[in-house]
Amino acid sequence: MKDCIFCKIAHHEQEADIVFENEEVVTFKDIVPKAPVHLLIVPKKHIRSINDLKEEDNPLISNMVFLAKDLAKKQKIDKKGYRLIFCVEEGGGQTVFHLHLHLLGGGLIEEGF
Ligand code: AMP
Ligand code: ZN
Repeated sequence: MKDCIFCKIAHHEQEADIVFENEEVVTFKDIVPKAPVHLLIVPKKHIRSINDLKEEDNPLISNMVFLAKDLAKKQKIDKKGYRLIFCVEEGGGQTVFHLHLHLLGGGLIEEGF
């Protein structure tokens, strides 16, 4: 989608600190981290928010959660614990309207997040 920052990152039209990528998703470091480890797991397909999920997106969401689990282990934050967050629309704190899963951990998570 035009003028979507996460579409641009997903298609390598905009720089990001990418830590994982496959055909379906890209994962990069949040530019304003709210915890020592703060990754964003982003589908390459443009979906606005959780509200816009279709039945066909069921495997995608499952894969994103399993990827979060694997990345938490790779980042060595799994044992201590971490937080997974989907912000949904303005009231849920969403500021980038391209679906993404926050993975936060490795120490103090900023209050309100
Ligand atoms: P949300 O508030 O759930 O929509 O989260 C959007 C997140 O994207 C925020 O934590 C931002 O810091 C982060 N963000 C915005 N632009 C970029 C970017 N160009 N690269 C990496 N992270 C970004
Ligand atoms: Zn997008």
